Formats: sequence, structure tokens, C-alpha cells
Amino acid sequence: MDSKKLLEVSALTRVYREGDIETNVLRGVDFSLDAHEMTAVVGASGSGKSTLLHILGTLDAPTSGKVLFRGQDLFRMNHAALSSFRNRHLGFVYQFHHLLADFSAFENVSMPLLIAGVPRNEITERVTVLLERVGLKDRMHHRSSELSGGERQRVAIARAIVNKPDLLLADEPTGNLDHRSAGSVFDLLLELREESGCAMMVVTHDRDLASRFERVLTMRDGVIQ
Ligand code: ADP
Ligand code: MG
Repeated sequence: MDSKKLLEVSALTRVYREGDIETNVLRGVDFSLDAHEMTAVVGASGSGKSTLLHILGTLDAPTSGKVLFRGQDLFRMNHAALSSFRNRHLGFVYQFHHLLADFSAFENVSMPLLIAGVPRNEITERVTVLLERVGLKDRMHHRSSELSGGERQRVAIARAIVNKPDLLLADEPTGNLDHRSAGSVFDLLLELREESGCAMMVVTHDRDLASRFERVLTMRDGVIQ
């Protein structure tokens, strides 16, 4: 294995079956990503971008094909090993923040560290510093339901990176925000990626945002062109 390679995806397919109807959503996706590399993923709605990101995030499994993470075949791990892998190595930001509404920003960002078994005092320190970094110093003890859309995405980004992932996956992270707020959230995402040095894949509809990436993968009808 090439030691620079973080992710090697080969012949990945995903078929949805509903009754007699089969939909071939991914039809043989191949690509690889180096450690620290960042890439945008663009493509028409329905081309399979979210399905691909969910599989890379181990939130869904492929019908066939392989995802190697530093040479390890992810979908041969058992459920417990995969959960632990996800907690230690991956961060995920969705279009809709998926925060726990009744919990504060601080509690939401603490969650991955609690799961990882990090000591309480260290959690307090790390989460406080990070929430200050994303501009939420005065909002961190507000419930996420009390925050604006842009503030929620800042919390979601903090939650995704708090446990220092090797790979940050973001599926239209600014797709639900107004133009100005989208710009500042996207800037923040790029800055934090730069500071942490993790690899990143971002799905975006926005060609201007995609143009800020050296590498852009285009999906069409379930394959990467
Ligand atoms: P994109 O993110 O590029 O818009 P998606 O990956 O969400 O595309 O969806 C790709 C295709 O898969 C679409 O045609 C969608 O209708 C279909 N699809 C997605 N999820 C499911 C599902 N759970 N069951 C059946 N079809 C699905
Ligand atoms: Mg999508």
C-alpha cells in the first residue's frame, strides 16, 4: 500500500431495492484520497453524492466494492469496531446540522469526546477552546434550538473536528444558509481543516465554493467522471 493514501475506494456500488424496483445509485465509484488532501464533490441532484458520503462516513454500507482506510477494509469490521473507528477517525457535517436540539452547543460538541472516554476536565478545556475558536464564546451554553442556522453549522463543524479526525466529510454544509452566512461558515471550515491538517471531502452545489479546491470530483449518474 502507498503510505500517503488515506482512502482507496474501488468498484463501489449501492443498489436500493424497493419491492421489485432496483435503483443503481452508485455504479462503480473509484478514487483515492491522500492523507491531508482536500477535494470538492460536485454533480447534479440525484447523482449519488450523499449516498457516497454516507458510505465513506460508515453511516451506510455499499452493495459491493471496497473502501480501504489506510489499507484496512472498513466494511469487514464488525459493528462495534466500526462505531469506534468512526468516533476516532471520521468527522461528518450534514446539510441540516443534526444537533441534539435540547442540548447546549457545549454538550453537543462534548458528545464525541464522552464516547471516546476523554476525561471530563480535558473535555471542558478542549470544547471551550474550540467553541471560542468558531466564534461561539457567548453562545456555548445556549441550547442548539436557540441558535441561528449559521451558529448551528459552526457547532456542527466543531463537533465534527473535536476528536481530531483524519477525514472530515461534509455534505452541502452551507446548503441551507443564506449567501453571507454560507460564505463565513465555509471560510471557517477551510480554516479549521488547514489548522488540523485532516483530509476533507466536501459536497457542494456552489461552483464558486468548489473553485476554491485544487481537486474537484464530478459525479454523474452514480460514477465519478
Ligand atoms: P445527491 O446527494 O447527489 O443529490 P443522493 O445520493 O441523495 O444524491 O441520491 C441518489 C439517488 O438515490 C436518487 O435518485 C435518490 O432518489 C436515490 N435514493 C437515495 N436514498 C434512497 C433510499 N433510501 N431509497 C431509495 N432510493 C434512494
Ligand atoms: Mg445530497
